[in-house]
Amino acid sequence: MTTIASNLQAVRTEIKRSVSQSGRRLDDVQLLAVSKTFVANALREAYQAGQRDFAENYVQEALDKMAALQDLAITWHFIGPIQSNKTRAIAENFAWVHSVDRLKIAERLSEQRPANMPPLQICLQVNISNEKSKSGVASNEVEELAYAIAKLPNLKLCGLMAIPAPSDDVATQRTGFARLRQLRDKLNLHGLQLDTLSMGMSHDFSAAIAEGATMVRIGTAIFGNRT
Ligand SMILES: *Cc1c(COP(=O)(O)O)cnc(C)c1O
Repeated sequence: MTTIASNLQAVRTEIKRSVSQSGRRLDDVQLLAVSKTFVANALREAYQAGQRDFAENYVQEALDKMAALQDLAITWHFIGPIQSNKTRAIAENFAWVHSVDRLKIAERLSEQRPANMPPLQICLQVNISNEKSKSGVASNEVEELAYAIAKLPNLKLCGLMAIPAPSDDVATQRTGFARLRQLRDKLNLHGLQLDTLSMGMSHDFSAAIAEGATMVRIGTAIFGNRT
């Protein structure tokens, strides 16, 4: 077995353990393999080990890999910061975008989504730890942005994404993830229908699953350290 295949197996085992420990169903948690900085052949290896959903942070790097991996049935997720001049390439090539935090970007993605493709699936990135330097919409502005985006024709607003401030303490990790879940639940009480919580990375995905993550975004634990 290759290193990537055995890493994937270990991650899946840990996901199963966390899911059953929190009384959830395995079907409710989807694994995204975060492949930024890794070459197309690394993704191919993960694909051969059964992985289908891949997440990328940089548009040009992703387009190059898509071209190299055209023969594979990959679902592509965009999770990086979005510049206005990159929205067309994102709208035309991805199934999901997890990092929307401004209406203007969402409007461009909706306008530029090709008519023959299904709606682009969207998560709003929330600055859940209120870090000054971090991207993401502030918690108290999420609701207004969510309503505006929910009206755009070629997008499907699916849920929320966050990268809480890193911590080694599981209780602290869970607090950040719980805040995102509570925010999602509040929006649903106010009439939206958001089922996705994109949260949890290599160092904290068990805590995220315990707090309701439906998508975990894992890079290092699958592909190794980025250089
Ligand atoms: C790089 C990245 C990840 C994966 O992080 P790891 O710690 O390598 O698992 C997840 N989400 C986002 C938004 C990222 O940029």
